[in-house]
Amino acid sequence: MDMWSEILSKAVAEKNKNTNRPASHILIAPIRKDYLNVFCENFHLHLLSKNISSKHGGNYMLYSIDYEICNEYNIKYAEEKDEYTAVRFIYDSVLSNFDAYFMKSKSKSYRCPQCSKIYEESEVVKFKVKRCCDDDEVLDEIIHMETPKTEGNYTEVEIKILGHISSLGEDEAMDAREIADAVGCTIQKVSMWGSKVLAKKGLINKGLINILSKNKTKNYYYSID
Ligand SMILES: [Zn+2]
Repeated sequence: MDMWSEILSKAVAEKNKNTNRPASHILIAPIRKDYLNVFCENFHLHLLSKNISSKHGGNYMLYSIDYEICNEYNIKYAEEKDEYTAVRFIYDSVLSNFDAYFMKSKSKSYRCPQCSKIYEESEVVKFKVKRCCDDDEVLDEIIHMETPKTEGNYTEVEIKILGHISSLGEDEAMDAREIADAVGCTIQKVSMWGSKVLAKKGLINKGLINILSKNKTKNYYYSID
């Protein structure tokens, strides 16, 4: 199944970054708990706790990848709580790709960017390219369901930004534009979230440094490790 291979590739990618660090555990927002049931039934994953706080805030469901599977992929198994509450264990950015399969009530409508007329999905469902019947503009899709987000947890993009910066050593530090490009969000989001929250809380480093490979001195973001 697709979702399993994506979970496994994230774990293997985490392992490959540093084989001495465990990559055996998974944290997900409680709102996505049903996604992993099938893997628990098949003993690929084991639910260890329904309410565990990450080092970086937020409460999560904690799972471990089966010990045998970890062995098979040479993934180091975490023994200490301190090891598996790091941000790299938060898998919501992987699981969010499957939200559509789990949200049956998701409804869509379409808005004309030109005249702002709203069309229900049923009105335009038969057209492959959906256009306004007054001015022929291509309609924008509106999805009427917020991205799953639990109280106290970060949004997907915030987790991605934190995760991305946390993977950068000082010599690989990136500026806000580079991070925005890598994560797929605005530069403003990176600088607001990075400077006003993450750096202030001491979760990442931000500083005016000179990166030799880039040959300029400016504000760069990198991990605290
Ligand atoms: Zn229109």
